Order: sequence, then C-alpha cells, then structure tokens
Amino acid sequence: MKKDIAYYECTLCQKRFAPQDDLMTCPICGERGILDIAFDYDKIKTVMTPSYFNKPLPENIWRYLPLLTVDGRFTSETLSVGWTPLYESKRLAKHLGLETLYIKDDGQNPTQSLKDRASVIACLKAKEQGIETIACSSTGNAASSLAGNASRLGLNTVIFVPKRAPIGKLIQLKTFGSTLIKVNGDYQAAYRLSKAAIDHYQWYNRNAAVNPHLVEGKKTVALEIAEQLDFKPTDWVVVSVGDGCTIAGVYKGFYDFYQLGLIDKIPQLLGVQSQGCAPIYKAFISEKPLEISAEDTLADSIAVGDPRNPIKALNAVRASKGQMVTVSDASIMEHLALLGQTEGVFAEPAAAASLAGLSKALDEGIIQKTESVTVIITGNGLKDPNTILETIEGFTVMEPKLDDLISYMEKEKENDKNE
Ligand SMILES: *Cc1c(COP(=O)(O)O)cnc(C)c1O
Ligand SMILES: [Zn+2]
Repeated sequence: MKKDIAYYECTLCQKRFAPQDDLMTCPICGERGILDIAFDYDKIKTVMTPSYFNKPLPENIWRYLPLLTVDGRFTSETLSVGWTPLYESKRLAKHLGLETLYIKDDGQNPTQSLKDRASVIACLKAKEQGIETIACSSTGNAASSLAGNASRLGLNTVIFVPKRAPIGKLIQLKTFGSTLIKVNGDYQAAYRLSKAAIDHYQWYNRNAAVNPHLVEGKKTVALEIAEQLDFKPTDWVVVSVGDGCTIAGVYKGFYDFYQLGLIDKIPQLLGVQSQGCAPIYKAFISEKPLEISAEDTLADSIAVGDPRNPIKALNAVRASKGQMVTVSDASIMEHLALLGQTEGVFAEPAAAASLAGLSKALDEGIIQKTESVTVIITGNGLKDPNTILETIEGFTVMEPKLDDLISYMEKEKENDKNE
C-alpha cells in the first residue's frame, strides 16, 4: 500500500477507514457503501510541484504516479494508457457558436475507450496482491479494456456482458483471450451474476463503482486536460454518464490538482445521460433518491438502469456547480456524424452523447457561448459499427467506368444543393 493515501471514506456513512488493499466497499454499509480514497496532499505537494512537469515524463498515465494508488513496481510492463490528444476545435466550435472548444479524444486509448484508465489500475492492483484472475461485468468497454490490459500483463479475465453488447467490443474480448460469459439479460443481470461469481471464486473485482481504485484511474483524463491546457482548464467539461464513475473520476482529477495548488479553479461539469435511461439525471433534477430505470437507448455504454455509483456522480456534479441534461438517440447520432464531419474524430454513440449534451446545454442557456468547454469523447466509433451503419445512407456500388462516376458525382452535388 502506498504511503500517500490518508484514508478511505464511505460515500454513504462518511466513516473513515485505514487504507488497505483488500477493502472494496464500506464494512458497515455493504455493497452500496462506495469508498472514496483520500490523499495526503501535503506529502504529494512536495513531489508534484509545478517544476515536476518540466521534466521528461512518461507519455501515459504513469506521469501522474504520485497521485495514483499503485506502487509503481509494474508500471513499465503495461499497455500505454492515456496521454490522448486534446484538439482545439475550429470547425465544430464555429458550428456551435462557441468561442473555445476542446475535444479530448479518449477513443485513442489502447483498447479505444476511456475505460483503459481504470482497467490498467485494476490489473496492477491485482498483480500487486498476487491475484491471477480478474472479473467484471460490463456494458462492453470495461470488459474489452480489462481483457486487453490483463492480457498484456499475463493475467486471466472472466467477463460478464449483457446480451446486447456490440460486436466491436465482443471481437476485442475474444481476441484478447478472455473467458466470455454472455448473460441472457441486461446489464443489471450481468452485474448480479458477476458479483455472485466473484464472491464464490474470490477473483479480483474490476466492477468500477465497487473498486475505489478505478475512479483514481479515470481521474487521469482530467489531470491530462488540465496539463494539456497549461493548468488553465476550460470553464466547463462535458462527459456522458452511465454508472457515474467517469464523471466522478473527472471531478477527482481536477480536485487533486486544485488541492495541490496546480490549478486555481475546478471546471463545472456537465453530465449527459440518454433520455431512454436517465436515472442519475432524474435524481439530480428531483433531488430525490434514485429510481432504477429501463435501459432504452442505443448508446449501450451508458445504458445503465441501476447505476452503481450515483452518489459519487451526484457529488461531483454538485461540487463543481455543474448541471445535467438528457439527449435523444436521434440527437446522439446526429452529433456523432457532426463530430466526424467537422473534426475527423470517430465516436461511439455513448461518447457522442456528450457532444449532443453540449448542444442542448447551449440551447437551454446552461452554458454560455462565451464560456470555454472541453468535451470528452469516451470511446471510438469502431466499437459499434452496426448502430452507426443503421443511421447512415447505404453504399453505392458502380461499374468501373468514368462516365458512371461523373453522373454519380453530379447527382451527389444536386442532393447537397437541395439539402
Ligand atoms: C463507461 C462509459 C461511459 C460512462 O462511464 P460511467 O462510469 O459508466 O458513467 C461513457 N462512455 C463510454 C464510451 C463508456 O465506455
Ligand atoms: Zn458506510
């Protein structure tokens, strides 16, 4: 266990516990008592000074090792996770009427989603404890990400996915050599079976909400955004919300840098859910306890009806003075195409939801056009080609004749004009 961790705190009962590697959830509250890891910032401050960032650092999340909960023994053996590009948008910003917009393309991670930031930490925590098998349930990305990162480190994985997991993610899982359990049911069903199996076999648990180390991995996306913007992050950061761990991680990253005095404000967070599955949004707006929802959206990565981490997510949005919005599937697909056409960035539906949410927040006056914004694209479009294929026009096959091509091009030009 690393010495810079001060304590673990339960997000339900607020009791504090001495840091220990095998503690997953609150011993008093049980499975819903998600723990938050608190650092000893005074100690970390002596290492992570502004000049720390002037040295050559690894071009992956290990550049933030003093703020991570792994001990550093195995960091040179992992896939290279993080340090993904942050693009300053010109064309998309103009389209939305924004002055300043950045796109953090986390689809550029080794298994093409932000989940790699958490998975690589889970793998190292398992390795530090000498555990050889890791299990998780997932809507897809956590699974394919765990499988890839574990494979690189010589660990075994058992993965539980719902029946509807998209093909791109399943192919990755199979290629990375996991034991794949496709559960006849939704994500909630996959989660329940994984929990029973983890208890039975004593596998290492990579279920993101339950394992407090995973938010610590996910927070690196915020550390990177801050560093890539020269420690002057944008007014807003927009991210889609499923279980709620990602947005909690984004907050934790900015909070860490704020505590260390490296940034002087924490961006406001805009959390985006899908209209067909918005339990955290509803709890945020109504200020009432969360109600389990149906999972009726094509954005599979955020189709989480019984989110595991609503408290951390709601705390993050509120503490940042942020907001939440919902978006329709149609708007998600529209913005997926818009992002591709204006910036050349390919998002899966759940990732494009964040951009759709930004549009909505601009329309509703939640975000002003003069405010600066970073949108996190959490996963790559090749994860789910079938859903995207359904919403784009078919492909034309033609004879290899120049005349045919010329008449096709003219027709296209006409169509463009008529639009
Ligand atoms: C997991 C995931 C999210 C949401 O993260 P949560 O921690 O479940 O809130 C968003 N987008 C993509 C692509 C994801 O894989
Ligand atoms: Zn508790």
